[in-house]
Amino acid sequence: MSELAFWGNDVFPVEMHKVRVIQKLNLVSVEKRLEAIRAAGNNSFLLKNEDVFLDMLTDSGVNAMSDKQVAAMMIADDSYAGSASFERFEAINRKLFKKEYVLPVHQGRAAENILARALVRQGHIVPMNYHFTTTRAHIQANGGTVRELFLPEAVQPQSDIAFKGNMDTKALATLLQKEQGRIPFVRVEAGTNLIGGQPWSLANLQEVASLCRKHSIPLVLDASLLADNLYFIKTREASCQSMELIEITEKIAECCDIMYYSARKLGCARGGAILTSNKALFKAMQPLIPLFEGFLTYGGMSVREIEAASVGLEETMDFDMVRHGPEFIAFMANELSDCGVPVVLPAGGLGCHLNAREFVSHVPQTEFPAAALSAALYLASGVRGMERGTMSEERNMDGSEHLANMELLRLALPRRVFTLSQVKFTVNRILWLYENRDLIGGMEWEEEPEVLRFFFGRLRPKGDWQQRLVDKFVLDFGDRR
Ligand SMILES: *Cc1c(COP(=O)(O)O)cnc(C)c1O
Repeated sequence: MSELAFWGNDVFPVEMHKVRVIQKLNLVSVEKRLEAIRAAGNNSFLLKNEDVFLDMLTDSGVNAMSDKQVAAMMIADDSYAGSASFERFEAINRKLFKKEYVLPVHQGRAAENILARALVRQGHIVPMNYHFTTTRAHIQANGGTVRELFLPEAVQPQSDIAFKGNMDTKALATLLQKEQGRIPFVRVEAGTNLIGGQPWSLANLQEVASLCRKHSIPLVLDASLLADNLYFIKTREASCQSMELIEITEKIAECCDIMYYSARKLGCARGGAILTSNKALFKAMQPLIPLFEGFLTYGGMSVREIEAASVGLEETMDFDMVRHGPEFIAFMANELSDCGVPVVLPAGGLGCHLNAREFVSHVPQTEFPAAALSAALYLASGVRGMERGTMSEERNMDGSEHLANMELLRLALPRRVFTLSQVKFTVNRILWLYENRDLIGGMEWEEEPEVLRFFFGRLRPKGDWQQRLVDKFVLDFGDRR
């Protein structure tokens, strides 16, 4: 890596790509935004994209592809069995991750379904650095429970530790000792999603791996957000600064018995894969692929997606291709933080995370502050974020609300999609909203699904605060959008 030169003190991230295909955006009026968020039950998942200006809901399946990825899609080899496209996919996976067996799946949670069905039984405990929504749902659906072994700093929105995603290895050592026979595998998640896209260090992963080996328990890596984690290892871990991303990847892969990923994120494409060199583990999972995904040479992916993923994986090893996300996110988080807006620090990958608990500190956690902030930001800007707080949790066994460790509004920056001016527009509207935060009120359930309720649950505002927020917007900005 050699850094860009800047004259003077104005340092900012620069796109190391140019835009050659565009999609026109639409910013509807504030009155229309109020109608739209009401029709969506105040759940940003239920908004229509035509009513959204900047879509920061997720980084899943919406990253910008490179010219080479699009070109590769044109020469895909369409066949049910034995496709040359799959052979290319298998080869690049073997080259980067050094695993013998490559099982294709249609997306990340499909890999979690296969893994949990093959390995998790009633009464099992799966230790992990932090849970992800779909991961935990699959483990629980198979009778297991999740045990999170994170550092105290992981759930403090602001701290200055570089690797908040690290696993608490002391706690892991104790648990592996105490629960022998009940632990089917240990799971580590790259770019730990729900705590703000926070990385772990290579040194921490190596320690986890050596504990797993000592107890003969497989180590599973969820590599969906590996690109960001690689960026942070290279830029924050002193011993890795002179290593190429491909060398760091190799060191990571050496630690893991199974790796899986969503290619909707890793490789900026679609689909996903499960990788292992362990024949017994492979044999336990392989029969489930044709049952749930498709034949072993496509696994629910189209051959075009397979080609795009292969090129995307290779491009993930190019520092200039992966730096855009983390650097734009850091710019956004630092601009906001400099103006006093509470955000998760240090900035992680995946997106900029507003700390709703502090932003709307007058809204109690039982009234879903992150969901309220999500609706309020949409009203203020047409920007769509995602609630990552209590609404994204599942209820306790006894039916009571399980309050989340953190109430975050995630503003994902899909890889290579947004320009710096779009990030600055979002910052500008957040600053307006922060100035007017007292107008934001709480939410309550209107309709609550039983499983993964955040996807299509509906909320209603407590009182008429949304109308008052819109009135203030009109007062300040007139008929401007
Ligand atoms: C998104 C994600 C998944 C699930 O992937 P999908 O392709 O959306 O099903 C699993 N794990 C992590 C860490 C993720 O970020």
